[in-house]
Amino acid sequence: MADVTSEDIQFRDDVTVELVKATAQDSDVIFAARVSTLGEQSLHPAEDDAQSGGLIRYLMRERHGSPFEHSNFTFYVQAPIFVWREHMRHRMCSYNEESGRYRQLRPVFYLPSPERRLVQVGKTGAYDFIDGTPEQYAVVSEATESACRKSYESYEAMLAAGVAREVARIVLPVNIYSSAYVSMNARGLMNFLSLRRKSEDSRFPSYPQREIEMVAERYEEEWAKLMPLTHAAFVANGRVAP
Ligand SMILES: Cc1cc2nc3c(=O)[nH]c(=O)nc-3n(C[C@H](O)[C@H](O)[C@H](O)COP(=O)(O)OP(=O)(O)OC[C@H]3O[C@@H](n4cnc5c(N)ncnc54)[C@H](O)[C@@H]3O)c2cc1C
Repeated sequence: MADVTSEDIQFRDDVTVELVKATAQDSDVIFAARVSTLGEQSLHPAEDDAQSGGLIRYLMRERHGSPFEHSNFTFYVQAPIFVWREHMRHRMCSYNEESGRYRQLRPVFYLPSPERRLVQVGKTGAYDFIDGTPEQYAVVSEATESACRKSYESYEAMLAAGVAREVARIVLPVNIYSSAYVSMNARGLMNFLSLRRKSEDSRFPSYPQREIEMVAERYEEEWAKLMPLTHAAFVANGRVAP
């Protein structure tokens, strides 16, 4: 018996990003870097914020990346599969994702909000997006909703006929949500942010898809609270990952 049906279909225009656990603070960078001159005494560095900030800025500027690896964040993320396809290219992250073989996938689908810019302009690699017209938004809404309803009904029909979940899922679209735990250290996170956020402060601008940028924005918000000096140094250094 299916525990959810196409009657329960939901459309969302957001992502969920929750910080599940973290061992991450600016002093993690300091003790790791100071071992080079202080040895075992580096665990108790007598530094104030100004000195720590100076050292972190130096490491960032010179791209001494390894001291930024002694931290860890685990996020719980719900996002559409087309976002996961991009996210999972980031090999510095560790992933565990819900299975479409071992559980019935929920009928939760991404539908862009009316604020999502719909029209692409500019050249390859540096696209810009502008607002769609109400008519264009109506086309997106209607086409997305009807395709999702139809595909979920087909999925259910196969499950009801006794077909395995791993086969039935082949009809589901890439805007269905999936969930995963994502773990990374601050160095991996900076690499992710340098590529998945569009910022005028970036020395090497990137033009990510808006929906993965929504995940990146939430990661950055959580990270900045935990490691404010490291975050500030990253921004001041043109958002270049060390
Ligand atoms: C705007 C944008 C558009 C994109 N378009 C496309 C596209 O059209 N097609 C496509 O296929 N991909 C595309 N990508 C994905 C992109 O090519 C990267 O796969 C993705 O951004 C992950 O980056 P990364 O390899 O630096 O991350 P990670 O895998 O986390 O790696 C981090 C760093 O580790 C090092 N590293 C990791 N693995 C290796 C390795 N095997 N060998 C050497 N060094 C390694 C590198 O220094 C790398 O920068 C796009 C990405 C962005 C941001």
